[in-house]
Amino acid sequence: MNANEKLEKILYNLYLKSGADAPAECAKTAIEYMEGRAVSVPDIQVKVVKGGTYKIKSYYLENNELMDIRGASTMITLVQDKSVPELLKAKLGYDSVVYNGGGNLFALVPADTDEALVNELEELAQDMLVTANSAYYISELIPLSRILGREYRDTMAYIESELEQRKKAKVLFDTSPESEWIGRKLLDKPVDADNLPEELNEYCVKCRKRIARYSRKGKKICGGCLHKVVAGEEEHSQYVSEFNKRTSNNVTPSLTVSYIDKDDVAVIYADCNNMGGIIQTITNISEMIDFSAFVKQQMSILVYDSLSEGII
Ligand SMILES: [Zn+2]
Repeated sequence: MNANEKLEKILYNLYLKSGADAPAECAKTAIEYMEGRAVSVPDIQVKVVKGGTYKIKSYYLENNELMDIRGASTMITLVQDKSVPELLKAKLGYDSVVYNGGGNLFALVPADTDEALVNELEELAQDMLVTANSAYYISELIPLSRILGREYRDTMAYIESELEQRKKAKVLFDTSPESEWIGRKLLDKPVDADNLPEELNEYCVKCRKRIARYSRKGKKICGGCLHKVVAGEEEHSQYVSEFNKRTSNNVTPSLTVSYIDKDDVAVIYADCNNMGGIIQTITNISEMIDFSAFVKQQMSILVYDSLSEGII
């Protein structure tokens, strides 16, 4: 499905829910309006949901154990790419996500959606990530024409600034976090750990900054690190098998940084610069959908191609 087809489907659902006559026709016209092929759009009021997990570096780099870093990264991907979009779909009854990438989800929701929705999204992310920061914002009513038309950039700038305000209002540092997932399955693995007595007051051996609430395989850890550990174990070999598949190699994983000796050490850190600068040049929502999909696909190709050609 290309960007416009995806958007048209979302618009169809918004028109349908607003009680418009001929929602399919309206959605078609709305796409034409966005592309400058129609002079006006059958206008309805909608709301925008925007948000994601932020300051993620401090979440996944709390220690230097590869499995925990991988676990943290797995948890963020799980929450952003699966759990949050699934909750949105379950609540609204249609796929409302216009684009979703790099911790930045954008959805169009019906006018009668209230603040409870984003509170639920934040609670879900909080429960699963425990110690990472997530914020979601739902706008006031906005005429659809402002999102599809020339006011797109101004509208987005306003929404972005409101989201920043919400992030600032959320101060999060739980010194002794618990897990809400004990006994439940995270990915495909049950979260199993023994409770430690509350009076113990020892620091978590993983992050060394929060109080350990659980004992798992003899290690005293906090609720946040527990989820990373479980996810890290589950995703242990996923990247390696993906690498082997893409590059026709047959490498085996290292468990910790100390397992990698001086003959084959490889620490690779990749980042993107000036994404904000590029996003500034995007003039309509369809371009934004394409850009988000393009970045996702290219990042993955770049990483595996570089590894294959340059290093191994
Ligand atoms: Zn910890």
